[in-house]
Amino acid sequence: MPGQIRPVSPVDETPQAMRTILDSCVRYGFCTNTCPTYVLTRDENESPRGRIALIREMLASDAPPDPASVAHIDSCLGCLSCMTTCAAKVDYHHLIDHARAHVEKTYRRPLADRLLRRLLVLLLPHPARFRLALRVAPLGRLVRWVDPRLAAMLDLRPVSTHRPADLRRARRVHPAEGERRGRVVLLTGCVQRVIAEHVNEAAIRLLCRHGTEVVVLPQVDCCGALTLHMGHAERARGSAAFMARAIADEHDRAPLDAVIITASGCGTTVKDYPHLLAGEADLAKAAALTGRLACDVTEYLAAKGLHPPVDAVRGVPVVYHDACSLQHGQRVTKPPRELLTQAGYALSSAPEGHICCGSAGTYNLLQPDTARTLGRRKAEALHSTGAAIVAAGNLGCITQIGEHADLPVVHTVELLDWATGGPVPSALTGRALPRRTPDPEPGDAPTDAAASGGQDAESFW
Ligand code: SF4
Ligand code: SF4
Repeated sequence: MPGQIRPVSPVDETPQAMRTILDSCVRYGFCTNTCPTYVLTRDENESPRGRIALIREMLASDAPPDPASVAHIDSCLGCLSCMTTCAAKVDYHHLIDHARAHVEKTYRRPLADRLLRRLLVLLLPHPARFRLALRVAPLGRLVRWVDPRLAAMLDLRPVSTHRPADLRRARRVHPAEGERRGRVVLLTGCVQRVIAEHVNEAAIRLLCRHGTEVVVLPQVDCCGALTLHMGHAERARGSAAFMARAIADEHDRAPLDAVIITASGCGTTVKDYPHLLAGEADLAKAAALTGRLACDVTEYLAAKGLHPPVDAVRGVPVVYHDACSLQHGQRVTKPPRELLTQAGYALSSAPEGHICCGSAGTYNLLQPDTARTLGRRKAEALHSTGAAIVAAGNLGCITQIGEHADLPVVHTVELLDWATGGPVPSALTGRALPRRTPDPEPGDAPTDAAASGGQDAESFW
């Protein structure tokens, strides 16, 4: 019946749950000025408040959504900056997930869009397929006539030339160095495993060095985040169910302290497994366990304490970029800063830290114009700090910022690994890096002022 909000599948959110979220918006619009798409366009329909109104109309209608509403939903980055700002605590996260699922089920996209989205869903969450697709990447040029965005995906390259060890073949247990103080599963990710396995290797070295046994489960590919953000809720639930079962089995083998995530886009989804798998009664225990154990690698390490840093990194100026999924999705902002500061880096934060870099999962492939504008804006903000390195905790941000900034962009775990005795991150090899004096004392709270303190002096790695 028109006017009522109907569920799109038996396991989707209930109409009442959506109604509760929609009704919690009091429309005073504090969120608008922290929403990247509103900041760029000043269009109400490109703001959280405007989108909430469009979603309300869409869910209440019997008709398929109109192209304009779909465009405004598609242009949402899912960065959740609006949730950080919203005093009324509107659950926009679950609302936009539901809206995307509704669009995918009820709206017929133009052919090129359907083809691109289908390919992303078929390739990205499956490391073997994606690896193969990158191997035949030159063929990507041939499909440019279908849609340049398709070729852009196949143009993706490993972010380092470092030759990775294969983490996929079998379940691996990396023993703790010294006395064992913890046992974790490390999620090696789907895309990350293909284009940035050196991040997983740095995480393993870092965790083992800090007394943690690290288990890698080869059968676990995607956590479901990629497909969920593209509106494929059923596929996402399938991936989540598979992973939750694998984690529960490993926990039965010997208790785990944590499920460690180094791609914060995945972390937001895995922490939310109890919600995502709420319709699956037989999975409730596994979903609750996985959600409870899930943590960003920096949350885990900050609780453990960092080994004494080596002198090599002391005073190297680093600007930390908050991935939206970490700062807005998980509200994790302090642990990475504390760890990088303890490690001895001269840490700063960039202006407009709450604004997305434009990566946002597959957003930079699906909405390249907005993504490019945001990428350039982010690069400018990062350059303004005068730092020599950008640190980030999410592969999507690393590739996106790396495309627009004239600075090496390195995962936080690589910098922490280097600082505690690991190799120099491959992106920094051969680079002359300045040092900033006076050095911050270990344990000092990082401040933007730290970025402007002292003179730079060149040193060479
Ligand atoms: S989402 Fe929150 S901040 Fe934005 S208009 Fe609604 S209640 Fe206000
Ligand atoms: S998730 Fe981000 S882009 Fe989407 S409405 Fe909220 S602030 Fe705007």
